Amino acid sequence: MSSAVFPGSFNPFTVGHASIVERALGMFDTVYVAVGHNAQKNSPADTEKIVRQIETWAETVDSERIKVVSYSGELTADLARRLGCSCLLRGVRSVKDFEYERDMADINRRVAGLETVLLFALPDQAAISSSVVRELASYGYDIKPFLP
Ligand code: ADP
Repeated sequence: MSSAVFPGSFNPFTVGHASIVERALGMFDTVYVAVGHNAQKNSPADTEKIVRQIETWAETVDSERIKVVSYSGELTADLARRLGCSCLLRGVRSVKDFEYERDMADINRRVAGLETVLLFALPDQAAISSSVVRELASYGYDIKPFLP
């Protein structure tokens, strides 16, 4: 059984995130979507809302193979070990993402022997970020086209 952890803030979970998970289902038996809870940025209730948003989406795709978890106060590498995953999954939209992901992948390999699988953003989704979606929402724009 192969499994990967897809860690992130997912605030909110966008069509870009959904595409990464759906495409990874062709490579792994199970994909854990791991919502990182940051006490400085979010309340536990916010994180719970994000988990529910992703679970609702996962039910429409493959609730057996997509598992949604939240975590805090734990290194992502330790979470992966706890879940029995030897692989991290991340998405790359740009050169900026690439450099960050390369450095994180190197550290995770060194400290935990974890490999990172990177999937490129679909070209028409490369500009979509949770922060832009949040900003649009704060100005009253309809964000449905950005949510799966
Ligand atoms: P983090 O705060 O850890 O970067 P995010 O929720 O912003 O968490 O993103 C989680 C992962 O999803 C990252 O690897 C990010 O590059 C990827 N990602 C974000 N938006 C997209 C998108 N539109 N297409 C593909 N991957 C994306």
